Amino acid sequence: MTIGRTMSTVEIPVAEMTHTGAPVHYPTASSRLLLDLLRLSRSSDGRLNSEATPGSLDGVIPKPVLRSLLAALRLRDPNTVQHVRRTALFATGLARFLGWEGLPLRKLEIAALLHDIGKIGVPDHVLFKPGPLNPAEQELFALQHHVGMDVLQACRVHQEVLDIINQSNPNYDNGVRNNTELSQGSRILAIADAYDSLSNKQVYRDAKTHEEILAILGGSAGTRFDGNLVNVMNRWVQAEGLPFKNQLAEPQTVVDGSFFHLAEEMQASSMCHIFSYLYVLESMYDGFYLLDAEMQFRIWNTGMERLLGRSAVRMLGQRWSSKQVEFADQNERLMDELKQPLQEVMKTGKPLTSQLKVKHMSGQWLNVEVMSVPLFDHNGSLQGVAEIFRDLSTDRRRRREDKDLRQQATRDSLTGVANRGELERTLESMLAEFARKPNAEPFSLIFLDVDHFKRINDTYLHLTGDEVLVGLAKLLQSETYSGELICRYGGEEFIVLCPATDLDQAFAKAERLRMALSDAVLSSVEELKVTASFGVTQVEQGDRLDDILRRADKALFASKDGGRNRTTPITRQDFMNGKLDLTRPKETPKPSYLFEGSFLACVTDEMVVLKFGSFVKEQQAKLIDVKQGKAVLRLGNTLLLPFWGSSPKRQPVEMQINFGPPPKHIQQTIKQGVSERTYFEITITPRGWAKDVQTFQARARRAFLMLKSYFVAD
Ligand code: GH3
Ligand code: MG
Ligand code: MG
Repeated sequence: MTIGRTMSTVEIPVAEMTHTGAPVHYPTASSRLLLDLLRLSRSSDGRLNSEATPGSLDGVIPKPVLRSLLAALRLRDPNTVQHVRRTALFATGLARFLGWEGLPLRKLEIAALLHDIGKIGVPDHVLFKPGPLNPAEQELFALQHHVGMDVLQACRVHQEVLDIINQSNPNYDNGVRNNTELSQGSRILAIADAYDSLSNKQVYRDAKTHEEILAILGGSAGTRFDGNLVNVMNRWVQAEGLPFKNQLAEPQTVVDGSFFHLAEEMQASSMCHIFSYLYVLESMYDGFYLLDAEMQFRIWNTGMERLLGRSAVRMLGQRWSSKQVEFADQNERLMDELKQPLQEVMKTGKPLTSQLKVKHMSGQWLNVEVMSVPLFDHNGSLQGVAEIFRDLSTDRRRRREDKDLRQQATRDSLTGVANRGELERTLESMLAEFARKPNAEPFSLIFLDVDHFKRINDTYLHLTGDEVLVGLAKLLQSETYSGELICRYGGEEFIVLCPATDLDQAFAKAERLRMALSDAVLSSVEELKVTASFGVTQVEQGDRLDDILRRADKALFASKDGGRNRTTPITRQDFMNGKLDLTRPKETPKPSYLFEGSFLACVTDEMVVLKFGSFVKEQQAKLIDVKQGKAVLRLGNTLLLPFWGSSPKRQPVEMQINFGPPPKHIQQTIKQGVSERTYFEITITPRGWAKDVQTFQARARRAFLMLKSYFVAD
């Protein structure tokens, strides 16, 4: 794999000329997320410095930050929140037994609560996999530790807490041969973490008893676990039992017992985005740092520590200079300060990729590729710069290429959705399953191809084309639930595989996707409108892989031929007798003033009520009716759709929400081991007269997505 190809996964800011000739810089998704990270570090700074304020946990972490991190984790995976809470109780219980108290105990507790925080960014197919992970997935999963450390560093979490988390990680290796070289806090956390995982049932194995756990921990004593500490732990459990079992039965509360505030939840959701992005960064590059506008180091990630042998503690808060990070050309001639990529980027406002040598602490020169990305805010003012490194030394590159190859086996490197191979494997096994069971529910396939994509590449930059593809993949993800497989089949062709869906349902779904797409802004070029053509088909007995793909392709072609931006359904009968008249105009869907949508979310009943409360309050909606499993709201002023119809006849718009356990056909598609899911069915209707269906549908969709965002992190 060439470097140029993998580079395309990170979008870089695009500069364009205005009429006056001055460049305008659009922040792209990635620079925006880096900017968010920078802002997070700045706001944490302010909070932590004022240690006397009630919001700070004794200078260990700003309390609002702790809350929003845990809120984000809960949004992503409530099971992990339970695990970290139990781990914190176990670790502090054991530490108290050892005589710990006061601030050190507090730090240990916070380390335990945050030790798995990086899981927020782990992609669904790994996080919710219903079984043990294969080696490639394990590698991907292990990155969660680094992602967590990046964010905690940005949040200005106390260094001791970071050390505890870092050293308790099973993969921690700093030339440590004997675990007693590690801090006691980290040794306690390692045991608490392992104990809790082992004593709870996992999808692929049963819960272990206390004796079994002792044997397992004792078996790795001296290497992974501290044998003395395991013995103390045993004495503690014998003496006190596991007192925290009762405490855990209490309702879920964080830190001080109150539920999250709405503002924190919104923050939690943007936190989830930052984590996912850092995942990409950690998996593709070897290190990165962020500088603010004053050129101070704000983030120096663990990858950078490894790469240059300089610790974050030393670098953070320092001002950037050519002495801090020494670059040289290929002949090891030191680079002039003013010629450094960073200076260039500050001058031109354009991102830059350079191949250079950089000096390791030991004095050794390393070959690296550096991507320097300016971070603009929405007003176009420069807020900072990120420099992202790839180590080009051969063995590292080989390892990375191996990893890339394994990733490539299942994922599309640009958009992160499944690739063609993965789709074909899944489709094969679904076909086999379908053939085995005569009464199996049918599944369907939606094939789509972006209209006039070449023009987008030609009119704007190729990069904008890439951005559109990434945006399209995200849109498809946000419009589907986790049982469906989204795949990039080729250049600008995508397939959505819908289990337990018949042709009519798939057609309706494709139409929803088509309308959502025509309304969406997919790239940094806001005025760029993108449409796609769709072909839809349902599996029929006797279908082979080729049959179903060819059918869908033919239907897609019919949509193109019929004028694009439309959906064509096709049955095997149509296909066989060539009945599908390619020139026949397709019926457009009936105008509908009824908007329908549904989604699945990982929320408990208790959370559903709270979230409705937040939505109603924040969006100034009105609750008309609420009973078990059903709520009716009148939309409020913030949603663009409070009333509908011409002025004398204006009528409020109502949203009806049914929620409860997922219906059978959806339940089957949810992977085992995924925590509790609630299914929401939403209908939005203008109660009075309405004139423009398209506008109504588009606005209703926005209201729907807004509601969904309260329940689902993407
Ligand atoms: P139609 O409506 O008939 O589908 O027109 P089209 O221009 O979309 O069709 P065509 O299939 O001829 O063109 C697809 C273009 O997509 C050609 C290729 O340059 C571009 N493309 C393929 N892969 C990528 C990619 O990864 N990034 C970008 N930016 N462009 C790509
Ligand atoms: Mg096309
Ligand atoms: Mg094409």
